[in-house]
Amino acid sequence: MSTQDHSTARGRTILVIEDEAPIADAIAARLRSEGYAVEIAVDGPGGVSRCADVHPDAVVLDLMLPGMDGLEVCEQIQAERAVPVLILTARDSEHDLLVGLGVGADDYMTKPFSSRELVARVHALLRRVDRSRAAGATDKVREIIRVAQLDIDPITRRVHQDGEPVHLTPTEFDLVLFLAETPGAVFTREDLLEEVWGYAVASGVRTVDSHIRALRRKLGNDVIRTVHGVGYAFEDAA
Ligand code: CA
Repeated sequence: MSTQDHSTARGRTILVIEDEAPIADAIAARLRSEGYAVEIAVDGPGGVSRCADVHPDAVVLDLMLPGMDGLEVCEQIQAERAVPVLILTARDSEHDLLVGLGVGADDYMTKPFSSRELVARVHALLRRVDRSRAAGATDKVREIIRVAQLDIDPITRRVHQDGEPVHLTPTEFDLVLFLAETPGAVFTREDLLEEVWGYAVASGVRTVDSHIRALRRKLGNDVIRTVHGVGYAFEDAA
């Protein structure tokens, strides 16, 4: 039984990189039942080459893989082309480690998870991609946002800092764009989950922290301010 309509899934390919066959098969079966095409790779190097071959719309990536760990895989596939990545971890402690590293994934799930929730997360990832593409396509008058030495172009989805290009993942871009549209305004983690990720779940707030850390590593610590006990704000230069 399908959980949602198939419009998000139609024509979309998801690459599942997971060495445990029962888990990979369960994920693939559920995604296919929702209308997605699914490719499976069973180790790190295979995942990287399959990603280059099939150009998936999103990647579900297990962290612990033979041949190359998931972090390396994530880095290599993101270097090739910005693609949404959902990382699967075995323990909450791994999740916390990833948060500390600011890995460029778009979302994280801790095993065991329900395939229903996984599908919901994949749908949410792709809907965000669609939404930002639609915004870029229809809002041609929208100008480049210039704040705090950053030039953020909502149409080409490129960011420059002091004139130098900065490579951001799709989610990092959406997050910095959302915050930069209203410099100085404070948003809670729950606000950001709802606005940027498109869903609000209690465990998801760590995903927000992870992406803020990643943005600070790439853009410097001064760009996004932590408002203790509340959330985050784009630094208001004025
Ligand atoms: Ca594994």
